[in-house]
Amino acid sequence: MKVPMLDLSEQYQDLKPRVLEVLDEVMSSSRFILGDNVKKLEEDVAKYSSVDYGIGCGNGSDAIHIALQALEVGPGDEVITTPFTFFATGGAIARAGAKPVFVDIDPITFNIDPNKIEEAITEKTKAIIPVHLYGQMADMEEISKIANKHNLGVVEDAAQAIGAKQNGKSVGELGSAATYSFFPTKNLGAYGDGGMIVTNHEDLAEKCRVIRVHGSKPKYYHHVLGYNSRLDELQAAVLNVKFPHLDKWSELRREKADNYSRMLNEQLEGFVQTPVEKDGNYHVFHQYTIRVERRDELQQYLKEQGVASMIYYPLPLHVQPVFAELGYKKGDFPISDQAAEEALSLPMFPELKIEQQEYVVSKIVEFFKK
Ligand SMILES: *Cc1c(COP(=O)(O)O)cnc(C)c1O
Repeated sequence: MKVPMLDLSEQYQDLKPRVLEVLDEVMSSSRFILGDNVKKLEEDVAKYSSVDYGIGCGNGSDAIHIALQALEVGPGDEVITTPFTFFATGGAIARAGAKPVFVDIDPITFNIDPNKIEEAITEKTKAIIPVHLYGQMADMEEISKIANKHNLGVVEDAAQAIGAKQNGKSVGELGSAATYSFFPTKNLGAYGDGGMIVTNHEDLAEKCRVIRVHGSKPKYYHHVLGYNSRLDELQAAVLNVKFPHLDKWSELRREKADNYSRMLNEQLEGFVQTPVEKDGNYHVFHQYTIRVERRDELQQYLKEQGVASMIYYPLPLHVQPVFAELGYKKGDFPISDQAAEEALSLPMFPELKIEQQEYVVSKIVEFFKK
């Protein structure tokens, strides 16, 4: 048996007739940029996030960058975030001209540890970017308390967490803004790049809108330095077809996660740390990530047996060569360093079959009991 990390083909076969229809509608209309499809998706995704405004943009990385710029984060400012994330989080801070300041993670959730945030705040701190890693929200209540106390902006990097909730609150409700990615492998994936900012603040929304069109307002008059980062109509049309299915897909992901955890805990207690959903959280399992010792050996073994797996992420941001000038070194964030050595993400997508999951688990058991 072969088990891929992700297989989008079944989903496409289900949606194909409607997808081809809407693509044809866009091409026949000749309206490709910022038309009705983008508008509809912005409204739907904002409502889904329990906020008033959605601003579609080119990708999830630009969404973070634009939100920071709208919060007037720039050169001389510091932005606090987690080192245990995809590069784009730190990249967006640096591209905005600010300095990323890292804070270690909670070993259970892999998300930024709110207890360590305050000691990293300086006079230059302008914002915090919690990342809702693997589909589970960071502790937003604590983070917003700290942000309010110190008058800081909060941009939730929710690239992996559309649909996640915490004590009844959606992604985007407590932060100044939240950002989504519609990269094809994300829980709501386009057929190319795409992203969105959602926010409840009208002034922030308006600034983001202007920044994504070259800082142009009115057209051809430029008071701020923007760039070209828009969600296009073809991608938005595809996403409008997919969006109504999102909650069902999240439920299916949660079901797969339950299956994995039940089997792994029954058969391998003590060898594998399965993901923990914190009380009050609704985890959408963008990734199903276990912690194990001898992780690299296990990954190699699984590969030989036809089971794909991924390491998210092998090198935390504080030790990325591009951030060397920040002066961090290995050991500065020991919990992130350890997570980078132990985390392994298993195949996860809504259409994953129970037989495939059983096979994956049997191979992990074989590795540890051999
Ligand atoms: C995917 C991702 C991004 C970037 O999104 P793109 O659409 O690929 O630019 C940012 N942050 C996190 C945590 C991600 O997983």
